[in-house]
Amino acid sequence: MKLSFVIPVYNEEDSLEQLYQEILANIGSNNYEIIFVDDGSSDKSFQIMKKLAEKDQSVKVIRFRRNFGKAAGLQAGFDVCTGDYVFTMDADLQDNPLEIKNFITKLEEGYDLVSGWKQKRHDPISKTVPSKIFNYVTVRTFKLKLHDYNCGFKLYSRELVKELEIYGEMHRYIPALAHAKGFRVGEIPVKHRARQFGKSKYGIERYLRGFFDLLTVKVVTDYIRTPLYLFGSMGMFSFTAGFLIGLYLSVMKIFYGHPLSNRPLLFLAVLLITVGVQFFSIGLLGELIVNQTRKVNKKKNISISERINLDE
Ligand code: UDP
Ligand code: MG
Repeated sequence: MKLSFVIPVYNEEDSLEQLYQEILANIGSNNYEIIFVDDGSSDKSFQIMKKLAEKDQSVKVIRFRRNFGKAAGLQAGFDVCTGDYVFTMDADLQDNPLEIKNFITKLEEGYDLVSGWKQKRHDPISKTVPSKIFNYVTVRTFKLKLHDYNCGFKLYSRELVKELEIYGEMHRYIPALAHAKGFRVGEIPVKHRARQFGKSKYGIERYLRGFFDLLTVKVVTDYIRTPLYLFGSMGMFSFTAGFLIGLYLSVMKIFYGHPLSNRPLLFLAVLLITVGVQFFSIGLLGELIVNQTRKVNKKKNISISERINLDE
């Protein structure tokens, strides 16, 4: 069995050597590769990783020209990894490699993704409170019950990893993306450690950006094939509201002789009807685009089916 470790690194010079040793101490007799993705570090991280790679053939390093964010780092690792099972871990030693075998046991119960749950978190309150809110909203949005979407420590099946396409701050929603593609997602509690070296790269501003990605992921998971469901229902709602207001105004005018010239409500009716028609048209355009791309992608699209003994 070959294990891949994909580890995004942004200025973590003090942790890397120890992390490498701890991973090696916990993989048992499995084959392994460790893929460090240097996300534009400005400290000595790259030199340290390079040294590790020179000593150990199984260590690989990808270096970004600038800081692209954790999701881009993970994706670069996913693209090149060759293991049967793929771990992602943070580079700051907060995730404890002692858990490796527990992850494997859980995955082998029949999951494609096992996500860590930092049951007892060792982070400041400025992180734990936003994280609680984030998890609550995410569970509500995607209807996949997890305690901790955003734990960096996860184990993936190879198939799932090769299906993912993440960017921005989308790493937080990987369980939701996997769930929407029909993969089985589970979680196990993991021991979490306080950050020993360096400092956290995530403040409140990244959470804000994360909420835009929530929207992206929601649209991508639920409506990518059927944009008219989304825009059509918004359009229908707006149009109907406008139509009813217009109807009311017409009745008042025709049967009771109320003049329309001094009714601001008339503007609202016109606005709602116009916007409604526009939403509807956007949905239809979306359908046309999806239809075209579907034809192009048809050959590549293995996400919806499993093919057994079927050569491409
Ligand atoms: N990281 C990265 N690029 C970034 C920010 C973070 O590769 O732009 C890495 C970082 O080096 C660490 C992991 O992502 O390995 C998690 O970051 P951090 O520990 O700062 O997040 P926290 O644990 O505080 O949520
Ligand atoms: Mg951390």
